[in-house]
Amino acid sequence: MLVKNVVYCSNCGEKISDEANFCPKCGTKTPKGKAANAAYPADELRDALHTVGIELEKALNMAARETQAAFQKVREDLKQKPAKQQIAFCPKCGSKNPYGAIFCCNCGGRIAPVGESHGGGA
Ligand SMILES: [Zn+2]
Ligand SMILES: [Zn+2]
Repeated sequence: MLVKNVVYCSNCGEKISDEANFCPKCGTKTPKGKAANAAYPADELRDALHTVGIELEKALNMAARETQAAFQKVREDLKQKPAKQQIAFCPKCGSKNPYGAIFCCNCGGRIAPVGESHGGGA
């Protein structure tokens, strides 16, 4: 029993180990596979389900990522808009000042950089 027996695929003629249940090349069931009554349809079904599962998971992951990205964007918008458009924080004392204020109403420190009053027309 040192030499492995070899069988040939009845469909494509591929040399197959006689331990194999299916031809590795075309998937045809070997005599051993037939004798062992290997569950070909069930395997196919399992593969199909596996593939569907992967696709589903991929789709769900993508949807989750998109949703997350959308939430993130909304959150950033919420975070940035009030701070940028309505309130200016003093860099020195941290006081809230009306947006557009150049000097802090609390400590008198400069809030807006010198050049900025020229640029932002909006
Ligand atoms: Zn074959
Ligand atoms: Zn201040």
